[in-house]
Amino acid sequence: MQPKIHGSCLCGQIRFRIDGKFGPVGQCHCSKCRKLSGTDGNAVFHTKKSSFHWLSGEEQIRTYHPPDQPIWSSSFCNTCGSPVPNADSSGDIYYVPAGLLDDDPGFRGYAAHIFVASKAPWVCITDSAPQYPSGIPAQPAKA
Ligand SMILES: [Zn+2]
Ligand SMILES: [Zn+2]
Repeated sequence: MQPKIHGSCLCGQIRFRIDGKFGPVGQCHCSKCRKLSGTDGNAVFHTKKSSFHWLSGEEQIRTYHPPDQPIWSSSFCNTCGSPVPNADSSGDIYYVPAGLLDDDPGFRGYAAHIFVASKAPWVCITDSAPQYPSGIPAQPAKA
């Protein structure tokens, strides 16, 4: 049985539920994730769109597209500014900031650190999770 987990933004207007499989959590150290979180990166995991359900507040979501980034975007709550789940460019996968969870997802610690090549100089990674200079290389590339 899959766990059912809930999440919400800081003000609580945006709420969601995940009731299918979801991936382990990774920490992205890229400069954009640092800016959007205001911290050392973005603790994020993914789930399929079919497992992801908005419960409330979808109309509160605003999305920022940096002008020089055609694919990447950041979504956030219009009232409290929390980053909120964001579909990838295909729309099939949702990326979920783990700090929004109100339930225990079961995973412990990070499964990977990504975009370590652009991590902040003041950040020291102290766990033994694998570190990748950019994204996770296991994604099969289309020939
Ligand atoms: Zn909010
Ligand atoms: Zn990032």
